[in-house]
Amino acid sequence: MSGDCIFCKIINREIPADIIFENDDVLAFRDLNPVASTHALIIPKKHIGTINDINPEDAELVGKLYLAAAEIAAVEGIAEQGYRVVMNCNKAAGQTVFHIHLHLLGGSEMGWPPWPAA
Ligand code: 5GP
Ligand code: ZN
Repeated sequence: MSGDCIFCKIINREIPADIIFENDDVLAFRDLNPVASTHALIIPKKHIGTINDINPEDAELVGKLYLAAAEIAAVEGIAEQGYRVVMNCNKAAGQTVFHIHLHLLGGSEMGWPPWPAA
């Protein structure tokens, strides 16, 4: 738990969220400002700020985020057609909430690469 972290507050039910998945280690909820018809955020219950803060002992926990992503994709009905899982790290990548989270995006065709050419 980190004092003023909004995702820790969602874990502790101090602020509401549309929670779609939970187990002992992981929570997932719908993004407040979705950019795809399915847009979920999958977070560890342990507060980790960025990818740069992941320690070797967190490796299994990070793997569990991906297991949750596949499970949610199946429930959302997008597993076969395909979906994207993204974790932004720090400012240049657009990270705005400093509690690591996978974005699970699906329900429409997505281009690749996702950014305009330089
Ligand atoms: P980032 O930009 O850090 O990769 O992603 C943060 C995501 O969190 C954004 O897509 C944003 O819409 C979402 N978000 C920010 N605050 C809240 C909130 O209070 N509730 C929910 N459900 N999503 C949030
Ligand atoms: Zn947190």
